[in-house]
Amino acid sequence: MDEWWRAGDSVWREDAASSTRFVLEAVQGVPRIDWELARGRLTDVALLVGAALPTTCAHAAIFPQEFAFCPECGAALHRAAPARHPAWWGPATGSLAPGAAPLPRHVPHGLPQTAMPLGDALEAREPEPFVGRPDWRMPAPPNAVCVFAAADFGFAAQRLVALAYTRNVVQYWDPPGARWHVFTADEGSADLHFTASAYAWLPPADAHDATSRGEFGIVPTAQGLFRLVINPLAESWRTEAVFQAPLAASPGGVGRRIACPFVTPDGVRVWSAAADGADPEVLDIESVDPTVPVPQGGWSRPFSYDGRLYWLHEDGQLLWRPGHAPRWLPWPFPWTPRLQFGGPARSRDGRLWQIGNDGAGYSFRALDDGAGLGAPQVEPIDGARLGFGTLLFRRGHQVKDDPWSVEDVEDQARGDALVLPLLEAVSATRGQPSGLVLRFAGFTGRAEAALAGDILPRTFVEWIGRHNVILDEIARLKNPGDCVAFVWHGSLWLHHPTWNEIRGWKLEGLA
Ligand SMILES: [Zn+2]
Repeated sequence: MDEWWRAGDSVWREDAASSTRFVLEAVQGVPRIDWELARGRLTDVALLVGAALPTTCAHAAIFPQEFAFCPECGAALHRAAPARHPAWWGPATGSLAPGAAPLPRHVPHGLPQTAMPLGDALEAREPEPFVGRPDWRMPAPPNAVCVFAAADFGFAAQRLVALAYTRNVVQYWDPPGARWHVFTADEGSADLHFTASAYAWLPPADAHDATSRGEFGIVPTAQGLFRLVINPLAESWRTEAVFQAPLAASPGGVGRRIACPFVTPDGVRVWSAAADGADPEVLDIESVDPTVPVPQGGWSRPFSYDGRLYWLHEDGQLLWRPGHAPRWLPWPFPWTPRLQFGGPARSRDGRLWQIGNDGAGYSFRALDDGAGLGAPQVEPIDGARLGFGTLLFRRGHQVKDDPWSVEDVEDQARGDALVLPLLEAVSATRGQPSGLVLRFAGFTGRAEAALAGDILPRTFVEWIGRHNVILDEIARLKNPGDCVAFVWHGSLWLHHPTWNEIRGWKLEGLA
C-alpha cells in the first residue's frame, strides 16, 4: 500500500512501483500536477518546490522536502537550493512587481530602464577598443518574437518565461535541462495573440504567496485583458478575464490604477480599474481636435510619469491622470514623431520630450498638454537623435545635457557611426547616463533607414559607462530595434528574433 507524506506545502505519495518512487501529488496554490510531464525534468521540479535529490544512492529519483537522508539506506540527500537573483519584468508601468529592483520615482516607468547596478559589473571588463565575446549562449525560444520575464512566480526558484504574443505561445526555460518547453493552454483559456499595438503587460502588483503561484500578470489579447497564470508542474497555463473588449493599445498602470484604451462602436474609450481589476470605470476621451479621431491601433508601449499615463501614436498623444478625463492631443501639422528612435527623453528640469520632424527638420516637442501654458515648447535640432530617458545619442556621440544640447564629441571618428540605445541603467550615484547600446560602425545613412531594414554590416554591442566596454561584434544585423535585452540568472542577455542563440554576459558581483 502506498504511503503518503506531507512535506512543507506539498503532498507526496511513496509508490515502490513508480520509476521515481516518490510522486508529487499536490502543492499548495497549484491546481494540477502532471507527473508524466514533470518527471521528465526532475531536477527543475525539485528546484521549483524545494524537494531533495539523491547524491549517492538510487532508491528514488526525487525525495520530498525536508528529507535529509534516504529512508531506505540512510544516504545523505541534496536539498535543491537555487541562487537568489532580482526579478526581471521588462519595461513596466504601474506598481512595483515582486522581487524587482525598484526604479527611482523621478524617472518614467515603462521605458527600457533598470535600477540593477549593471555598470559596476560590466565595467570590470577590458575597455574598448578590445572587442569582447559573450560568456554564454542559450538557444533562442522556438517562437522568437517574444517578451521575457524572470521571476520566481511564487515558486522556490527563479525561472525565465518567454511569451510569444504574436503566436499565442508560452515558453519556459528549464535551466537544468537546458531546453525550452512550450506550455499548453488549459481548456477555456483566452488566445494570447495581441498585435493591434506595441506589446506591454502589467506584472503582478502584489508580493507572491502560495495562493497566487504562477501569476505572470495582466496581459493584453485581441479579446481584452486577461490575468495569465502559468503552471510549471503541469507545463500549462490558464487565463482569467479582467476586461473583455477589443483593445486599442496595451494597458498601463499609474499609482493604484490601471487603464487601457479600447474600441467601441462609437470610437475609442479608456477603461480603468484598481490594479487587481476591481472598481472598473469607462472614461470618455476629451479631444482638442475632434477632426482627428483617436486611433484604434498602432500605439507605442505606454509609460507613466509624474502621476500620468502616456500612450504615443504617429497621430498624437493620449494622456490620462487618475481622477481626470483622458485627453487626446493630435500632433500639430506637419510635425510627426519618430517613435522608432526610442522613447521620450528627459530634460534637466524633469520634463519629457518626443523627437519628431516637421518636413524641414528635426525637433524635440515637450510632452505636456500645454494647459494654461500656451503652445508646448519645441526645441529644433540639426539631426536625428536616438534614445530615451537620459541615454541619448546624435550619431556616434552621446548627448549628456538636455536632449537638444550639443553632443559630447570625445572622438571625431565616432561621427560616422550611429548609436541606438537599448537599455538604460538608472543610478543615483552616477553623474552621467549609462547603458547598453548598439553602435553601427561606418553607417552614414539616415537613422530611419538603419531602423527600417537596411543591412548594418558591422554592429558593436557596447556598454556606455565610466568607461566603455565592447561586449560583442555582430555582422550583417537587420532591424536592430527588434533587439530585446534582459537580465536573468546573474547575466545580461541580448535576443534578436532572427538569431538562433541568445547572447549572455556574466554580471560579476551582481546580487
Ligand atoms: Zn538510498
